[in-house]
Amino acid sequence: MRRALITGITGQDGMYLAELLLGKGYQVYGLVRGQNNPKLPLLAEVVPGVTILTGDLLDLSSLMSALTAAQPDEVYNLGAISLVAYSWENARLTTDVTAGGVLNILEATRLYEHQAGTRVRFYQASSSEMFGKVQQVPQSESTRFWPRSPYAVAKAFGHHMTVTYRESYDMHASSGILFNHESPRRGPEFVTRKVSLAAARIKAGLQEQLMLGNLDARRDWGFAGDYVEAMWRMLQQDQADDYVISTGRMHSIRDLLDVAFTEVGITDWAPFVKVDPRFLRRAEVDALVGDSTKAHRQLGWWPRIDFTELVQMMVRADVDTITSARTA
Ligand code: GDP
Repeated sequence: MRRALITGITGQDGMYLAELLLGKGYQVYGLVRGQNNPKLPLLAEVVPGVTILTGDLLDLSSLMSALTAAQPDEVYNLGAISLVAYSWENARLTTDVTAGGVLNILEATRLYEHQAGTRVRFYQASSSEMFGKVQQVPQSESTRFWPRSPYAVAKAFGHHMTVTYRESYDMHASSGILFNHESPRRGPEFVTRKVSLAAARIKAGLQEQLMLGNLDARRDWGFAGDYVEAMWRMLQQDQADDYVISTGRMHSIRDLLDVAFTEVGITDWAPFVKVDPRFLRRAEVDALVGDSTKAHRQLGWWPRIDFTELVQMMVRADVDTITSARTA
């Protein structure tokens, strides 16, 4: 039986990846931070087969203990402080966890390989935010990074460190440059879920207005359930490498509002939406769109769910939750 250790197991991607790996017969270990982590009950409900280990990306010895306990064939580093807007207010903490944490888990994995006399395959969750002020359209593995937030700088560090460990120690360490990926499990601090939740709540009469930032920002949004499949495929290759994972299609926040409000039967969202400068960013990433030709060719990976289906799925899930809370 193959064994995997996932950091960031309580996040959206951690849960989808755990489901995928459990379905493939893996023994799955999840690293959970903090005492009495509030997300543990949800994790136990969604993916009950995961073995929980406690540890923190800031604490190298806790990572060594987790690796020794899990004896993994594969390590997926999904743990990070992941909110771009928050990263300006907490630049140091974001850097410690989202950048320094990658170094810690790479180092722990290297030491574990040495001690146990085994090989481990490593996945780093890199981000399209590293492209920031884009130097090329669409963005591929060879596009130069221009990070525009402390979060993006931290992710660029993690990416380069993963490549450096691969080249320095011959580790099987891959970096997935994932474009925005969403699902009904996305936190409401991200714009897709904020909009899907608001559309459902406005329709139900529970909310009157939706305050947003830049309505003209454009992103390449895919479904998280599709993207975890790409992570796993990367670790099944003979050679570790870097891959852009994206849909290749770009949509604006306005497009997102169109699909979400149409799904609840509201044809004009304008009366409900207000721009609030509090949600504008100090340095915006205007438009991201990925070129996943390499992933199509080498991994045989393609996204299954498109933007419209994704937004509809998210709105329906929020409508269902509100409806079942009312009838309960
Ligand atoms: P990100 O791409 O990782 O930063 O994902 P987000 O979902 O947080 O933001 C995507 C885009 O939506 C960014 O360009 C934001 O500026 C834009 N946006 C506009 N209004 C909002 C808002 O109210 N909240 C968030 N999170 N983003 C918003």
